[in-house]
Amino acid sequence: MDQPHVIIFPFPLQGHVNSMLKLAELLCLSGIHVTYLVSASIHGRLLTHTNVQPRFNHYPGFSFQTLPDGLYEGSLHNPDGIIQMYESLKAIAKPFLIDLIVSDRLSSDARRPVTCIIADGILSLAIEVGEKTGIPVIFFRTVSACSFWAYFCIPELIDAGELPFNGGLSIRDNMDEGIANVKGMEGFLRRRDLPSFCRVSNLESDDFKIVLTETRRTPRAQALILNTFEDLEGSILSHIRSVCPKLYTIGPLHGQLKTSLARKTTSSSTSSNSLWEEDRSCIRWLDEQPMKSVLYVSFGSIAVVTRDQLLEFWHGLVNSGKRFLWVMRPDSVAGKDGEHHIPAELEEGTKERGYMVGWAPQEEVLAHPSIGGFLTHTGWNSTLESILAGVPMICWPYFADQQVNSRFVGEVWNLGVDMKDTCDRVIVEKMINDLMEVRRDEFKKSADEMSKLAKRAVSEGGSSSCNLDRLIEDIRLMNGGGATHS
Ligand code: UDP
Repeated sequence: MDQPHVIIFPFPLQGHVNSMLKLAELLCLSGIHVTYLVSASIHGRLLTHTNVQPRFNHYPGFSFQTLPDGLYEGSLHNPDGIIQMYESLKAIAKPFLIDLIVSDRLSSDARRPVTCIIADGILSLAIEVGEKTGIPVIFFRTVSACSFWAYFCIPELIDAGELPFNGGLSIRDNMDEGIANVKGMEGFLRRRDLPSFCRVSNLESDDFKIVLTETRRTPRAQALILNTFEDLEGSILSHIRSVCPKLYTIGPLHGQLKTSLARKTTSSSTSSNSLWEEDRSCIRWLDEQPMKSVLYVSFGSIAVVTRDQLLEFWHGLVNSGKRFLWVMRPDSVAGKDGEHHIPAELEEGTKERGYMVGWAPQEEVLAHPSIGGFLTHTGWNSTLESILAGVPMICWPYFADQQVNSRFVGEVWNLGVDMKDTCDRVIVEKMINDLMEVRRDEFKKSADEMSKLAKRAVSEGGSSSCNLDRLIEDIRLMNGGGATHS
């Protein structure tokens, strides 16, 4: 009964739900009580596609709480949909959350009233909830430190005249021009590496404004959690600490959870938080492939490719002559229509060396000995999963933070190649050959070294493990902050 009680509130997208549920499980393992707040639709998908129910049954202090009806239910594959979701969360989740806390509906004989809110770092509505209820708020920003910092510096870029530019829409836009006003990234950050929202000529656009406002509100929270580790992003973290001094770097969270589960329980199963049904047949296929011979291809849960891009990737993959495992979500091709036929040589090449699934158990795939490379959109979860597994990457960023992440993968960490803004079969083939053959040893060496550092960070005494302990201690010191309940 004396355990703290934390509400965890993610933005309803796969990457956010996944990493914040991992944090929830880590807090539960330390005895903290957790209410995980999600839409009914996300809750339903987790129940359908994962073992979340039996897994969390081990933690009597854990419960799901669903948000009321009325949230935006359309596609989240474009900025418009994300803005609409954002607005509906403000209209519905904010009053609901205040009422939930004030009415004390979440406490019971076994659970205290809420003592802390850990909200997604792009949901600054939680700050207002905290102000109304007196409950301390910690933000969890699910992106990389480097992209968070690039977002944070946008006002400086505007002041210095580095923004706006036309985002490549005009021939006069030199997308390779250097950016000087993101501290710590001088010398290698170019226009094309800024978060995709910066590719606008109009700084009044809604998506640009939301991202900017939400990011600049971060210091209003009591603390900030980032899913990263000091050895990976230390130099950028020191800049973030100048504005958010209370910063917990506790990643890679999936590694941290695995280590904690192994230490505290006998369970060795992975904690899948997939919103789609995982097709495990690909693991059997991987079992039959030679060591490090397969390129894994996945663009995450949101990215959508055009039919032309799909064909360029496909030709590049087949022409490379390498084996590949490709995740093609049913909704991942724009304007998909069955009538387009697939060229015979692609069908043939895929039958010989490829395997396709609608959704894969990605963490397990990346850790499989047959995997030798990852063609990724560099979503932050995917990037961290690749880093922990020691798998070099070909980066094809789609949007948001991914443009920054891919620059760091290619230029700063030397963990692979960045092919942003190009999608041509000849280049795809060349990139695959570079990664899997020509520069294979070079990339493998740096990927192995970074993987070791990631594993060290989450093992006992490592930086992320110590920071998680510190976070847990600090949560224990929060007593709900004397709620005003008015
Ligand atoms: N993922 C998965 N199976 C797939 C594709 C993706 O489990 O076939 C998971 C992946 O492991 C990662 C998440 O979905 O944890 C995607 O998050 P990320 O931040 O990489 O990209 P987003 O989907 O947010 O663009």
